[in-house]
Amino acid sequence: MPTYQYACTVCGHEFEAFQAFSEDSLTTCPQCKGEIRKVYSAVGVVFKGSGFYKTDSAKSPSLPAAPAAPAAPTPAPKSE
Ligand SMILES: [Zn+2]
Repeated sequence: MPTYQYACTVCGHEFEAFQAFSEDSLTTCPQCKGEIRKVYSAVGVVFKGSGFYKTDSAKSPSLPAAPAAPAAPTPAPKSE
């Protein structure tokens, strides 16, 4: 089962979640119910012994570009 790392955009809480591919992505922080985003790390899946404890890297500015907009499940309808 894949492990996804999430980071809360509100309180900064970081956590990992084990989810099946068929499961929906988490969208809320378990602590503050704020918006969370998936953290894609180059070392998110480690097959070697070293480099496992890299969760702190999520705080580094070298994160993959994440959209600032909330990850809404559906786009807002155009009101015209
Ligand atoms: Zn939070």
